[in-house]
Amino acid sequence: MPLIDFTHKGLYCAAGDFYIDPWQPVNKAIITHAHSDHARWGSNYYLCHEASLPLLKLRLGDIAVESIQWNESVNINGVKVSLHPAGHIIGSSQIRIEYNNEVWVVSGDYKIEDDGISGKFEPVKCNVFISESTFGLPIYNWKPQEEIFQNIKDWISDNRSAGRTSVLIAYSLGKAQRVMQCIKDADVKIFLHGAIWNVHQTLLDAGYDLPVAERVLPGTPKEHFKGNIVIAPPSADGTPWMKKFAPYSVGVCSGWMQVRGNVRRRNADAGFALSDHADWKGLLDAVKATGAEKVFATHGFQAAFSRYLNENGIEAAEVKTEFRGEEEEQEKRSTTSEQERADEN
Ligand SMILES: [Zn+2]
Ligand SMILES: [Zn+2]
Repeated sequence: MPLIDFTHKGLYCAAGDFYIDPWQPVNKAIITHAHSDHARWGSNYYLCHEASLPLLKLRLGDIAVESIQWNESVNINGVKVSLHPAGHIIGSSQIRIEYNNEVWVVSGDYKIEDDGISGKFEPVKCNVFISESTFGLPIYNWKPQEEIFQNIKDWISDNRSAGRTSVLIAYSLGKAQRVMQCIKDADVKIFLHGAIWNVHQTLLDAGYDLPVAERVLPGTPKEHFKGNIVIAPPSADGTPWMKKFAPYSVGVCSGWMQVRGNVRRRNADAGFALSDHADWKGLLDAVKATGAEKVFATHGFQAAFSRYLNENGIEAAEVKTEFRGEEEEQEKRSTTSEQERADEN
């Protein structure tokens, strides 16, 4: 019997009787990170990394949750479980499971490049590696973040000279905090959409040192935004909420912006291919570093990625999961909440 089964509720370890990132309510859930496609509501008990804990509570409310640190192991029904940095967002972890001398690692989402806030991705030796493959095509190769940050800063200063506000579209958890790091030295004020503000406050309360920012409120005078920066989630893009920033330019921060057509399709003025996931080379390097005999590729381009691995001597199979790779649903929910509706007026 395999150590992890792919069931209709999610990745299940029968020996330990727990699930990893289940998409349906279960008794015991171990969570890789707080994005909504991985951390879902309704389970009786959650285990996560200590940095994920406040984020999990922000998104799931009053849940029964315990946390551990990286490299700390717990014994669950005789199965040894430990968490290791995945470098994707704050608290994101790979989950290592050991039982009867066999080791499996579930990657969750991961990023190889160290962003300075999410922990540095650490390859973990294992027999079987379950890897995400969000950007598992050779066309996805990221530029170093310093280069992208410079592009963003140049764009902001061009907008400022033209009297325009820069509206940066970034996911509220992960990308938004990275973008803030990038622009913290620029001599501009940072305004945050409510959904991003909530994450920002939670992280400040947890002791993170984040740049100074202000929440966009219905009463914020329009002139305050002029020449400055607004960070908003994808769900706010193109809504009436944006009107108060006029004149403005929209820049989308997402790995998908690597494909030129996507910038046009999104009606963005600029696209910055800044991703919180590994690119093609990053995925391959990560897989090799685990030394795994068998790889299961999940959400993303799992078919192409697993085919490539098979052709290159690494046994691989694709697995269909309900991970979506991004967090649209969560963003939509937070934008239509009472507070956000108030903000839109
Ligand atoms: Zn994620
Ligand atoms: Zn994901």
